Amino acid sequence: MSFFRKTEALRHDTHLSETYARDFDIDERISTRAKRLALKVNFTTGRIELVIPKRAPRHMIDRFLMQQRDWIMQRQAEMPESILFVDGQRLSICGHAVTICIHKNISLKRTKIALNGGTLDVMTYLDDASARIQRYLKQHAKTQFELLVSQKTKSLGLPANSISVRDTKSRWGSCSQDGDISLSWRLIFAPYDAMDYVIAHEVAHLKHMDHSQKFWKVCEGLCLNYKAGKIWMKENGTSLMRYGR
Ligand SMILES: [Zn+2]
Repeated sequence: MSFFRKTEALRHDTHLSETYARDFDIDERISTRAKRLALKVNFTTGRIELVIPKRAPRHMIDRFLMQQRDWIMQRQAEMPESILFVDGQRLSICGHAVTICIHKNISLKRTKIALNGGTLDVMTYLDDASARIQRYLKQHAKTQFELLVSQKTKSLGLPANSISVRDTKSRWGSCSQDGDISLSWRLIFAPYDAMDYVIAHEVAHLKHMDHSQKFWKVCEGLCLNYKAGKIWMKENGTSLMRYGR
């Protein structure tokens, strides 16, 4: 009798978990290093990711998902929507309000983009110019950041070796021992104080490679509103991952 009961329970369980596994719109990633199943919020993709140890059997994965059902659904409900580079989209670029204005013209041979005051004019033959707009904004970020870094390095009296703008996943900026500064292009969407603070932070590392009191003193002297910028990045930094995706 106990045998039957057990089989019944298992069958029921398996049926349920299969239903749930299909219902969840999450990404699965097999990891050779992971020791246990883990759910993570990937702020880059804006999706939930399930990390699966290499040899985890499917029934174990499904059971885990079923147990974590409430957590997954809550996180998905909380997930902010992407901010897409489409016609009419309002953005804040380096602290200035900008609206994307797409002028479609199929006779055009190539896409032209220009920032005219509060408008980002996009003349294009493309149905979807979002990737092209993203490329433009990355280039714009590079120009703006180079300007800010050069102002700050001049005031510090120490030059940077190089400045690169990337789509970093875990850090907004970095500064190597050799003075190579790397910044996330997404910082252009942050309020000016926040963007200014991150750049000042990396430039201050040219003088102090640590986070000592001396470092923070230098950092503070290199930016407009150090406190406001630092707080904004801490509280809202991940929201910058919503752009484009
Ligand atoms: Zn630092």
